[in-house]
Amino acid sequence: MDKWSQIMQIKRGQLPVRYLGLPLTINYARYTDCQGLLQQVQSKLEGWQSQLLSFGGRIELIRSVIYAIANYWMQAIYVPDKVIQKIKKLCTNFLWRGGLHTIGWEELARPVEEGGVGIRALHTLREVALYKLAWRLIEGDSLWAQWTINRYQKKSNFWVQGIDNNYSVTYKNILRMRPILKNRLERVIVDGNTTNLWFDPWLNHYNMVDRVGWPVFDLIGRDEPLSTLIQNHHWRAANRPIGLMFRIEIEDTHIHMDGTTDRWEWTGIIDGKFLYRDVYEMTWRRGPVVEWAEVVWTSGVAVKMKLCIYKAIRNRLLTRERLARIGVEVANMGCVLCGGGGIETREHLFFVCAFSSQVWQHCRRKSGLTGGQNSELTVIMEEIIQINDRRKDIFNSARIRLLSAVWHVWRERNRHIFEGIGISISGVINNLKADVLFMGKPTNSSRRPGI
Ligand SMILES: [Zn+2]
Repeated sequence: MDKWSQIMQIKRGQLPVRYLGLPLTINYARYTDCQGLLQQVQSKLEGWQSQLLSFGGRIELIRSVIYAIANYWMQAIYVPDKVIQKIKKLCTNFLWRGGLHTIGWEELARPVEEGGVGIRALHTLREVALYKLAWRLIEGDSLWAQWTINRYQKKSNFWVQGIDNNYSVTYKNILRMRPILKNRLERVIVDGNTTNLWFDPWLNHYNMVDRVGWPVFDLIGRDEPLSTLIQNHHWRAANRPIGLMFRIEIEDTHIHMDGTTDRWEWTGIIDGKFLYRDVYEMTWRRGPVVEWAEVVWTSGVAVKMKLCIYKAIRNRLLTRERLARIGVEVANMGCVLCGGGGIETREHLFFVCAFSSQVWQHCRRKSGLTGGQNSELTVIMEEIIQINDRRKDIFNSARIRLLSAVWHVWRERNRHIFEGIGISISGVINNLKADVLFMGKPTNSSRRPGI
């Protein structure tokens, strides 16, 4: 430890020893070791609380800043579940301003294609951080990697060593990931000098030990490199009995001419280097895709409109009917736009109401929607989704009209209730027309949907 405390220029002391502000815990990171992480998250959130941020702005801050903090920690220690739960709770309270939590965290922390808002899931992030550590370890050139290799891999090869109780939690977790790592990593063979013939998984993501059962060391020593089967960039499987056994498979394995020595590459990433975004996507366990994602999240519409319809689809806009349903005392359940012509449900407010149905008729006519007087949001969405298969341009203007109509009707309703401003159909329709004009520009369809 003394040697390492010198190299890392840290003082010996009581655990948790701190390095770069993080506890360098030897064995297990407990809840209390992560107080620093929780404090950082909490103070950021408290600092933002006083600012007038929109829902979209709050999501963005969580997505960028809070996740950067959590990520930084996760790359250093294995953050316990309890701490992850606490971060989710803090973020949820911040997002919904400590009030009525309308959409659950697990629902939001999904890709937009799956009905979320594109916040990354902390558990998956923790897993990706471990992959990143595993990558640093096998690349071997960082100080941390050298320290770990020196400490844990003195006599044994990473790919086959047993899991010792004295190892740190992080290292044990990396070892447990080896079956997945074997699949995701590819050993690129150039000269075979730095690849262990027996233990490194160079043969179609397997190693020889997996294939043979256990090495026959009297044939080839345990430390022999793969270069024993290579001459002048060609396989010489016949050089050794083990090569003959697997000759066909070995000769199917490509010997690369680029580079000077063997290297690891991530499969599925363009230059084979670890990329956070790509590895996250590979790691995320995909759920069912929601059809409406493309209606909501395709570019060309303001974020506030996307989020408004997102809440509407989830039926989480706080209409008077919904407020009453979740136990808030509502004196008057009637719709303000038509002067009490019906209970203010989502369907009434946006489509059935004498006020908004005029707005909606305008949209229908302009978008060429033929579904009659249908007034259910899900049915209308379905109708728009079907256009997408036929005509991209019509789909785009139809979805912009829907998003814009819902947003302006909701705004009109709020301005009337909270600011006492009079309502105006022509005002809403004019705003809508302007939106289609300005937002309906052709969009780059290769861009993935997102906030
Ligand atoms: Zn009404």
